[in-house]
Amino acid sequence: MATFKAWVVEKGEAGQSLSFRDFDDADLMDGNVTVRVTHSGLNYKDGLAMTGAAPVVRRFPMIPGIDFSGIVETSDDPEYRPGDAVVLTGWGVGETHLGAYATRARVKGGWLVPLPDGLTAQQAMAIGTAGYTAMLSLMALEAHGLTPTAGPAIVTGASGGVGSVAVALLARAGWHVVATTGRTAEAEYLRSLGAAEIIDRAELAQPGKPLAKERWAAGVDVVGSATLANVLAMTKSDGAVAACGLAQGMDLPTSVAPFILRGVSLLGINSVTTPREKRRAAWARLARDLDLDTLSAMTTSVGLEEVGHLGDDILAGRIRGRTVVDIG
Ligand code: NDP
Repeated sequence: MATFKAWVVEKGEAGQSLSFRDFDDADLMDGNVTVRVTHSGLNYKDGLAMTGAAPVVRRFPMIPGIDFSGIVETSDDPEYRPGDAVVLTGWGVGETHLGAYATRARVKGGWLVPLPDGLTAQQAMAIGTAGYTAMLSLMALEAHGLTPTAGPAIVTGASGGVGSVAVALLARAGWHVVATTGRTAEAEYLRSLGAAEIIDRAELAQPGKPLAKERWAAGVDVVGSATLANVLAMTKSDGAVAACGLAQGMDLPTSVAPFILRGVSLLGINSVTTPREKRRAAWARLARDLDLDTLSAMTTSVGLEEVGHLGDDILAGRIRGRTVVDIG
């Protein structure tokens, strides 16, 4: 029987386990495109899936890994032919559908996008779900009508994956970027990505006043909880904050004050089920607007055998920037 190598999450009496083993081709889930996976990425959600810290895996056994780039092996989808280079993020891959930490994946063609012109498969996963989410956040702020003339933009969790790409994209688009981090030793790294100011995340981590001094016009928040509440309380009139993460917590202990007294908007970002046209537009802009040297400077590569050990590290905030899983 044909097999391929994969990380596999299983659930038994003793709880969840993770192993690197052979997986039967015959056990791949339904889909009309089979892909030879060449690269994946490490995202916060992969940490949750591999460690079981939150119940993001909803089918066992599960191959974790929420994004990949690779080459189509077989396809019943008229849009894709063997040899095509493709990218996938989201759609429950690595959560409800067998995922990316493997040499092979079978998915629905409608979930894929062609590898954008100007990016290699490695660069696409250096961007990955995190970078794509950062672009969706920037697009949401722009769609709200915000431009760099409105004032600074804050990025929380700036040393992480979404945060690092958000800093680079906003700076490249002309924003004065305020980066918050718990790792002040990474100040130079953040400045190299384009941050103009660095603030210690402890300043925003505790519950604060419903309204505080106005400090920024826009924000990309990956942290949630009291941090997002404080970011909102410090947003200028008619500004907006794109909320995409929950690294501090899923709660949001805020009040209506920023919304009704300053006209601040909270923009929700969901990268998982973004419709096809917006998805392609976001990737095209990433290929056009993200400086590839800056991307390279924020990226570390690991082999497929190593990724299983990195779940705890990303949840603990020990991973800087983006990690590409080089599958070959
Ligand atoms: P990372 O772990 O790479 O980045 C998260 C960063 O948040 C850390 O690097 C750290 O930055 C900061 N952080 C960690 N713990 C805390 C804490 N307790 N309090 C305050 N800050 C903290 O993860 P990703 O960039 O991959 O993902 C970030 C978030 O975005 C996650 O919650 C993830 O689930 C979410 N996400 C959502 C998506 C969507 O579709 N909405 C898509 C992709 C990600 P520093 O050390 O600089 O402070």
